[in-house]
Amino acid sequence: MTDLGASIVIIGLGPTGIGAALRLQELGHKDFLVIDRAPQAGGLAGSVVDPQGFTWDYGGHVQFSHYEKFDQAMELALGTDGFFQHQRESWVYMKDRFVPYPFQYNLHRLPKSDQQMALAGLQAIQGQPQNKTNFDTFLRSSFGDGLCDIFLTPYNFKVWAHPAELMSCQWTAERVAPVSLEKVQTNIEEQKDQVSWGPNNTFQFPKFGGTGAIWRSLADKISTNKMLLGSSVQSICAEEKIITLSDGRTVAYDQLVSSMPLNQLAAVLGDKELMEQTSQLLFSATHIFGVGLQGQPPEHLKTKCWMYFPESDCPFYRVTVFSNYSPNNTPRPGETWSLMAEVSESVHKTINPDTLFQEVIQGMKNTKLIQEGDGILSEFHLRLPQGYPVPGLQRDAVLGQVLPTLKDMDIYSRGRFGAWKYEVSNQDHSFMQGVEVVEHLLHGREEITLHRPDDVNKQHNPFPYPDWKA
Ligand SMILES: Cc1cc2nc3c(=O)[nH]c(=O)nc-3n(C[C@H](O)[C@H](O)[C@H](O)COP(=O)(O)OP(=O)(O)OC[C@H]3O[C@@H](n4cnc5c(N)ncnc54)[C@H](O)[C@@H]3O)c2cc1C
Repeated sequence: MTDLGASIVIIGLGPTGIGAALRLQELGHKDFLVIDRAPQAGGLAGSVVDPQGFTWDYGGHVQFSHYEKFDQAMELALGTDGFFQHQRESWVYMKDRFVPYPFQYNLHRLPKSDQQMALAGLQAIQGQPQNKTNFDTFLRSSFGDGLCDIFLTPYNFKVWAHPAELMSCQWTAERVAPVSLEKVQTNIEEQKDQVSWGPNNTFQFPKFGGTGAIWRSLADKISTNKMLLGSSVQSICAEEKIITLSDGRTVAYDQLVSSMPLNQLAAVLGDKELMEQTSQLLFSATHIFGVGLQGQPPEHLKTKCWMYFPESDCPFYRVTVFSNYSPNNTPRPGETWSLMAEVSESVHKTINPDTLFQEVIQGMKNTKLIQEGDGILSEFHLRLPQGYPVPGLQRDAVLGQVLPTLKDMDIYSRGRFGAWKYEVSNQDHSFMQGVEVVEHLLHGREEITLHRPDDVNKQHNPFPYPDWKA
């Protein structure tokens, strides 16, 4: 006899687990249980308030949506009144200046020598086929050596914390837009900015409580007796279908949906072969640094959302002006503001934990985000041991073995680190992976997000289900 049990048990109350649980509830399936080791919902899409009253997300979370079902969930969470709408104003900081994103179409803002390098590289690849051997060859054959040397190579190393030669490029379909030499040339000649934001390129952000407010509100719609928070899965006996929790309690299941990282799932299963296979999956850790400040942002940061930093004058790859997303992310709206920086870490890119915060602050000064003498009210730091599922060269072969093995055990590993597919690991994708795995278990439907990422990312709501609003 076990202490607890349900026909479908879900590990994780992040977007994936919440998507699965809400869909089960919608379909009237009452026999399920969600377990999360954290005391509150949200997972990596959660938010925290520091002792000084500043709200922080776990990295800059911007909402994308590829699905009507996800749009409905956002409305259900906070209503249309619960969000601010923003234009996606993103910039690159390099050569002591801000360049609007997409960087390649705004080269006129850079020194002449950089423009020439970029153009020479682009001209050299005209008519040449793309080389998809790895992410590095893909970038060089798609953008040319000039753009790679100036921006793409250093930036991508800062983000992924892995050399691009170790990464595949199969995941890039939507994320890395192809570049037009003609457009690059015209924009340089006409000294014209081409920005990525505008009335048709907007995102929404919760007015209160950070991104985590969305997921806390959706979790509140799941029956309380179906959730076990603050309980960590310590081991799973796949033969007997029994989970043991860290407090010693046992939970029986028929089918298990897991959104904990796949490598950690292999470890709690104690399966040596799965552990060996998943050890080949690459990932990076992410450090989140929040800096809460007195006053208001300087003029040049007043409308910026997030900025990319390819150069070595700062340790971070991205900074979000988090108080621009909502002034309520600070303790005294109108009197205080905030910046949130992200730094990656891996065996290929180590950091010094004793000096990193100082380096971040110095980096913010070097890149004109803050000035000497600015009143810093709060310094927040959090290390996410697994932040980015890096698309390594072996990834698809490993997943092609591991996910079917788990399925044979009635275990469905889904979500950002559950399925380890970066290209479908945002909040909308993760939520839908949860929804779709339930559709698969109950109705035998194909899980399109997991199996057809390129199709899902091509357009909004490409695969509406006929009874979606059931
Ligand atoms: C730095 C960063 C920036 C991001 N930016 C964006 C963005 O701009 N836009 C966007 O849409 N998405 C963004 N994301 C992705 C977003 O956070 C994820 O899509 C989402 O959180 C994944 O949801 P999930 O449920 O699959 O996994 P998670 O959120 O990781 O949830 C997994 C849950 O499992 C629980 N768990 C783990 N192990 C155990 C265990 N042993 N026992 C019990 N419970 C366990 C965890 O506590 C956690 O709650 C970003 C993520 C990061 C890290």
